[in-house]
Amino acid sequence: MRTPDPTLRFDSLQQGLEAAGFVILDVISNGDQTDMAIGSAGRPFWDAVSQSREWIEQHDNPIDQYTARLINQLLRADQGESAIYPFDSDAPNFVQLWPATFPKIAASQLGPMIHPDFGLWMAARAHIILPQACLTFDDTKSFSPCESCRDKPCLSACPVNAFSASKPYNHLACAAYLKTDPACFSGGCDARAACPHGQSWQLPEDQARYHQTRFRTTFA
Ligand code: SF4
Ligand code: SF4
Repeated sequence: MRTPDPTLRFDSLQQGLEAAGFVILDVISNGDQTDMAIGSAGRPFWDAVSQSREWIEQHDNPIDQYTARLINQLLRADQGESAIYPFDSDAPNFVQLWPATFPKIAASQLGPMIHPDFGLWMAARAHIILPQACLTFDDTKSFSPCESCRDKPCLSACPVNAFSASKPYNHLACAAYLKTDPACFSGGCDARAACPHGQSWQLPEDQARYHQTRFRTTFA
């Protein structure tokens, strides 16, 4: 049997992921392995999920279940391709793993990861591992925007000061405020919106409302 061409395999996987609404946040090939950071951002993923059977049948975690179903279908497990999901019971902490692994992904001043294209408006969906080097790279400079961000507007934009430079994120204050149905309930988080990166990827209103509702229900 012929060994599959790694570049062709990467291209077909990329096409499948993008058709399912995912974005490839970054890719590295080291030695005989390729690591892919798969995320979601904006309208394409939301449209795909909200038309999925997991959503229509009102599964408990339709986004996670859609993600696992689609990505597991795309991967060739018999050829050693695999994925780690943030919702796996034994998952690593992606907020630590990805900035340490992928040059385009950084830990932000706010806490969530930040990306040069999508800013703070993306979510981690899967870490895919292919058992071959698919791509070669020139030296890629690491994205690290927060150190040089002079005014750090994200830290002063929340109406209840849920974020600050000196204290951890106060998620209870955030959830309590969301119970009052403020603008950031359906318009998305003001602190994230204050960051200059990824402005055009702010969440569609229906998506922001969905995530804020789940967050508020869990913590308020
Ligand atoms: S506003 Fe500045 S400090 Fe805050 S997340 Fe964006 S780049 Fe980082
Ligand atoms: S969602 Fe609203 S209350 Fe919560 S951190 Fe963002 S701006 Fe603050």
